[in-house]
Amino acid sequence: MTKKPDPLETAESIGRAVRNRERSAVEVARVFVERAERSAPRLSTYLHRDGARTLEMAAEVDRRLESGEKLSPLAGVPIALKDNLCTHGIPTTCGSRILEGYLPPYDAHVVERLRAAGAVFTGKTNCDEFAMGSSTENSAYFPTRNPWDLDRVPGGSSGGSAATVAALEASLALGSDTGGSVRQPAAFCGVFGLKPTYGAVSRYGLVAFASSLDQIGPFARTARDVALLFNEICGRDERDMTSRSDATPIDLESLERGVRGMKIGIPRDLLSVGVDPEITASLDRVTKKLSGEGAEILDVTLPHARYSIATYYLIAPAEASSNLARYDGVRYGFRAKSDDLQTMYASTRGKGFGREVRRRILLGTYALSAGYYDAYYLRAMKVRTLVRRDFDQALLRADAILLPTTPTPPFKLGEKVDDPLAMYLNDIFSIPASLAGAPALSFPSGRTRSNLPIGLQLVGRPFDEGTLLRIARTWEKKSGDPLGVPPIANGGART
Ligand code: GLN
Repeated sequence: MTKKPDPLETAESIGRAVRNRERSAVEVARVFVERAERSAPRLSTYLHRDGARTLEMAAEVDRRLESGEKLSPLAGVPIALKDNLCTHGIPTTCGSRILEGYLPPYDAHVVERLRAAGAVFTGKTNCDEFAMGSSTENSAYFPTRNPWDLDRVPGGSSGGSAATVAALEASLALGSDTGGSVRQPAAFCGVFGLKPTYGAVSRYGLVAFASSLDQIGPFARTARDVALLFNEICGRDERDMTSRSDATPIDLESLERGVRGMKIGIPRDLLSVGVDPEITASLDRVTKKLSGEGAEILDVTLPHARYSIATYYLIAPAEASSNLARYDGVRYGFRAKSDDLQTMYASTRGKGFGREVRRRILLGTYALSAGYYDAYYLRAMKVRTLVRRDFDQALLRADAILLPTTPTPPFKLGEKVDDPLAMYLNDIFSIPASLAGAPALSFPSGRTRSNLPIGLQLVGRPFDEGTLLRIARTWEKKSGDPLGVPPIANGGART
């Protein structure tokens, strides 16, 4: 009889045990499925979960190993997928009514890769509709709750993915990040979240929101686990012409080499916008620790970063308005009943899309319309170039930039839902790196006095994800276990 996996076990150790046949993939999957059965209904982490299918996938992994097939380090590791990643024959709704009942006829590139690796899917996680939001409250189905405090949001839009990893319902998860949707929920739930360099991971089969910004990224409980998942999904794929071959796997041992001699820049000018004092204190603590480990801390400036939110909220809705034109009631999912085609289109879109999505389609259509294109969209593209140059300049002097992931700890459900601007402002620190296309990692840096997670962010040079993980790994080792397990993962919880 082999023993049950320790709840704190990493994906790395699960994979190793499964490949070495010390544990069966089915045994591991059963632990995660049972835990999810207990906590997922209270957290509302999944839009679609099928324990039997998960166990069946795990059994297949055991059969492949039995037959002598060499599988990847992720073989037998339970992984959750955000519901905007296409999964062959498994519902994919993007948190929207308009895709209710849609069964994709193909797998996204990342899903294909993970299947080949022998990963075991736990289900499709809840998200803000079409990834538009920062709290999962824009999901057309239900909001997800923060495992550390059920009255608070898990962040968004990949809130379900972040929460499911924090609550140990899955060992790893994938989300998508357009303006912060992996990093912000990672920070709110106290786990690691990486937005890879634009082009590092193929977007084939990721339902498009804003194509020049969208990237798929991993959630994990350790820096090494982030690297393992990234390594499995990165690289060129012919079906996404923006994917690049310079995205190469990270050598895990390089993460152990410390930060001696590294230069880490702090964008002090940007921090003047109003950051919660407990987050500033955490930033100071981490900075001191890294400096004690031999890193050189310097000030950098990102003079145009403060225009990022305004810029993003022109570019992202503009691209969204075009991408979402395809949901017309003819091709996918939901169709409103009607006698003629025009009213069918209008009523399908009117009923199928939620408020935030409609707001963005309207804003985006406006920004792209004749006469306004130059004043809004084109100007936003120019500012985007300035933001990118700021990062290029700063990263000539520094190997990475360290800043908060969010200005505040997780907020309460309902707190910002009627105030889109307040919701948008929560992304002040994550959006600049998105505009620049730079890799950015959120890592857990501690907790507030009321035991809410705090996340900090590292931004780096294109295709230099390894340096970010190495810095975070150094902090992780020096700080003991900054993650911890929320009570809900052990069957208890505050409600
Ligand atoms: N919160 C941002 C938005 O609403 C970012 C979302 C994302 O990265 N998908 O657009």
